[in-house]
Amino acid sequence: MTPPRLVELRCPDCGETQWTIDCDYRGTDGVPNRYEENAYACRGCHRTSAGFAVVQKSPPEFLLQPHPMYPMSREDFERWARILRENFPDHPIPGGPRRASSKAPPAEK
Ligand SMILES: [Zn+2]
Repeated sequence: MTPPRLVELRCPDCGETQWTIDCDYRGTDGVPNRYEENAYACRGCHRTSAGFAVVQKSPPEFLLQPHPMYPMSREDFERWARILRENFPDHPIPGGPRRASSKAPPAEK
């Protein structure tokens, strides 16, 4: 199994994009998770279908931060943390790379 990552998917019907958290390899059998073949419920057109295209993925190490072997730049980390907060408000935010300041990010609502 590979670490879960944030994955942006584009609906084949309406072109709306949405985020999911998933692994490139879900098991230990070496079979890749083919995002295009999974069925997702679109938040735009409310249809559930396969054929979603991958737009972008977070670095695999993002949700593992802070990671001694795979550090991320603060800018990179902040960018992905913002996407995580906006799309998965209930998901715990991984510990960032060494904090530049102790100020907590402003709460979004
Ligand atoms: Zn759609």
